[in-house]
Amino acid sequence: MNIDIKNKQIQFNHLIHDEVAYLLNREMKDLPATLQPTAHMIAKYQHMSIPKEGQAVNEVLDLLHNEILAYNYRANHPRAFSFIPGPASQLSWLTDLLTSAHNIHASNFANAPLPIAIEHSLIRYLSEKIGFDPTLSGGVFVSGGSMATLTAITAGRDAMIPLSRISKATVYLTDQAHFSVTKALHIAGFAESQLRYIPTDDVFAMDVKALEHQIRFDIAQGYHPIMIVATTGTTNTGAIDDLNHITRIAQQHRLWVHADGAYGLSHIFTEEGKRLLKGIDKVDSVTWDAHKLLFQTYSCAMVIVKNKNHLLSTYGVEAEYLDDITSTNENIDPEKLGIELTRPPRGLKLWVTLQVLGENEIRRRIEHGQEMARYAEQQIQHMRDWKIVTAPQLSIINFRYEDPQKSPEENDKVMQYAASRIAQSGYAIAYTTELNQRRVIRFCTIHPETTYADIDGTLERLDTYVHEASV
Ligand SMILES: *Cc1c(COP(=O)(O)O)cnc(C)c1O
Repeated sequence: MNIDIKNKQIQFNHLIHDEVAYLLNREMKDLPATLQPTAHMIAKYQHMSIPKEGQAVNEVLDLLHNEILAYNYRANHPRAFSFIPGPASQLSWLTDLLTSAHNIHASNFANAPLPIAIEHSLIRYLSEKIGFDPTLSGGVFVSGGSMATLTAITAGRDAMIPLSRISKATVYLTDQAHFSVTKALHIAGFAESQLRYIPTDDVFAMDVKALEHQIRFDIAQGYHPIMIVATTGTTNTGAIDDLNHITRIAQQHRLWVHADGAYGLSHIFTEEGKRLLKGIDKVDSVTWDAHKLLFQTYSCAMVIVKNKNHLLSTYGVEAEYLDDITSTNENIDPEKLGIELTRPPRGLKLWVTLQVLGENEIRRRIEHGQEMARYAEQQIQHMRDWKIVTAPQLSIINFRYEDPQKSPEENDKVMQYAASRIAQSGYAIAYTTELNQRRVIRFCTIHPETTYADIDGTLERLDTYVHEASV
């Protein structure tokens, strides 16, 4: 539909060329880590009407370039340390651009044979990394960790219990599980009263003794325990639940184990990750985000199930208008493996990234993040009145300033003041989280271009701000 552009009598290819050149050449480091629009700007877009007759494309693109896309939190800034940042590779967005321009409909194999063959080959490759038998396992690329968890939990539910008996089923997780797990359990039909929040130990991992005790107790009470949702790399602290122990308990009592590795599973590319993720091969399903640590743009994630038949029996419904397009065992249509019908081939950008960078470079980039967290720990140990609250796990560290003259509540406020000051300055994003009812600063240091100087500069500024806080 070239008429979209032709009618505007402008050189669209020049605009695209200039924009791509700008994006490829800009130094993220020189831009603020976050830029907040004024109330005036927000109001402008809230009230901007759609014209009866169209306007010049370059005027609209100018708005995109100068305002709409500029005033945001930059998830791929090397000093964005909050949430789980999104240090996306340029290879990922370039592939995204092309995939989107070609408008690939990747719901079934016949419509997009090569992109889907590539997605399946990647699922097999990632299955091998986990230690699943790639001839039995299966999965699909989805929009994010939340969707992956919903996809897996629903398949696990169907594998464990008929829907008609779900009211007696119980599910086990911890309060460090990501809120997307609770959301998925709700959508999958579990009431709050069927969820068992198992306490965590001093490093915020699931207390397996308490888990076993609770399962036995529930069985004695006439409940039907069906699923444990372990977290392999919690968002708060990077804590990894003990999968060897948890899967042993699960085998004994016949429970499904889902591992939420949205953030943590990518560490399996490193030696440290392999050691910490021991037992991952024994779980039934995993959530794995590629738009966090595998350097993909939003959005790109995987759900992988040890036995793909569990996905097929939950999602493999047949539609008569798709009869002409059948799938083979090797090239199963993605629409039979998950919730979505129309979908882009999200795996393609990950494939291009892996092909161009290679596995060793991916490993080095992830190791760099682990190293940055350890470096931050060393530096904080030398800072007066600052304390490490959780030592680096994967690439997350939590720490806190404690002025002995102030109450814990006052120090909480000081933490929040420092976090908001550094965000305002645009230098870095380092928000707080809550651990043991106290506010702590949390760093997730996964950007491959974060430097020692970036860590030093951020810590120095935080230290300045805690001293100027008038709490
Ligand atoms: C980020 C995250 C999620 C949610 O993933 P989305 O891709 O944001 O939907 C789930 N679990 C964990 C542990 C996470 O870190």
